[in-house]
Amino acid sequence: MRWKWMLFLFSALLSSSLANAQNVRIGVLGIFHPRQLDLTSGNGNAIVVTAAGKTFFLQPGSPAGNLQIHASGNELFLKIADKELHASEIHAAGRNQDATDFMLSVPGKIERRYRGTLDVKVVDSELVPVVTMDLETAVASVVQAESLAGTSFEALKAQAVVTRSYLVAGGGRHAEFDFCDLTHCQSLQEAPRPGSPAALATEATRDLIITFDEKAVAAMFTRSCGGHTLTPADIGISSRGYPYFSVDCDFCHKNPVRWSRGLSREDAAILSDHHEAARLSVDRRLGWNAIPSNNFKARETETEIVLQGVGQGHGVGLCQRGARAMAEEGADFRKIIDHYFPNTTLVRRAALTVPIQLDRKLALPD
Ligand SMILES: [Zn+2]
Ligand SMILES: [Zn+2]
Repeated sequence: MRWKWMLFLFSALLSSSLANAQNVRIGVLGIFHPRQLDLTSGNGNAIVVTAAGKTFFLQPGSPAGNLQIHASGNELFLKIADKELHASEIHAAGRNQDATDFMLSVPGKIERRYRGTLDVKVVDSELVPVVTMDLETAVASVVQAESLAGTSFEALKAQAVVTRSYLVAGGGRHAEFDFCDLTHCQSLQEAPRPGSPAALATEATRDLIITFDEKAVAAMFTRSCGGHTLTPADIGISSRGYPYFSVDCDFCHKNPVRWSRGLSREDAAILSDHHEAARLSVDRRLGWNAIPSNNFKARETETEIVLQGVGQGHGVGLCQRGARAMAEEGADFRKIIDHYFPNTTLVRRAALTVPIQLDRKLALPD
């Protein structure tokens, strides 16, 4: 019975495409602590907004083309043309509740373009915008934000695989969404334009993730390692999923990024165990990147302690600087991943048993 086979094939196709579809929820623009946001269409199509049980349309080019969202106590106050409305949350999407292009701005500070759907609510008197976007859009946006201009294509592909693995297996560090758009999770701004190196590197590695013991790895990366990478245990992070390994990084070994920093005895004592949580707590007080890495030696002078270090970032996982150098010397992305993540296997996401087993044991400090 041919139709039975047709039905079987159709349902197999449907379930495989469902298994492939994955969205991630990114909390955006939080660094601006927004109390007002403006929402407009990004492509000339209307946006459907749902709030307080009502539905209305943002029509580009009309007086109702722009939605102002204000935080008012612990509620939203919305203005569209001459309409005003209070709501606890809003949802914005395309005509069929699908992803759409939109512009979101914190007036006077920033405007960004996103593709996905948008939810906004108020937490502690601040607006919390969350963009739900396709996994591959998120990967391309992170590759764009996290890579230096001119990075070799194979290094961009390695970054795409690492980023995708983290987005698939990580998360759980935020209550209202899966990932923020800062280096706390991974930096994410706008999607790269089609045909750009970041977009092409993402397409070329579509769906590929790093696995260990048949589980997705929440893969970490660092700007530069100083000559060898560190394990989570080296910097006081517990990791019961992928154990990580300290690997040599030839380029950083020959040309380490060096830094030095004078500190009070009290601050130096906090850093003496080289733990990432301590480094971040001192950074929060003295300024971002005040202590660039966990790889340093301390020297005492009459007045202070001087830290002399190498590397940038926590030092665990893929070294972006070393990966660029490997790619320039002819390594492909598989060789780069294999070097920084020994004993792992690259697989298509769909090839893993569903649901994908998460590696959420990695307890990164906040
Ligand atoms: Zn985060
Ligand atoms: Zn390195």
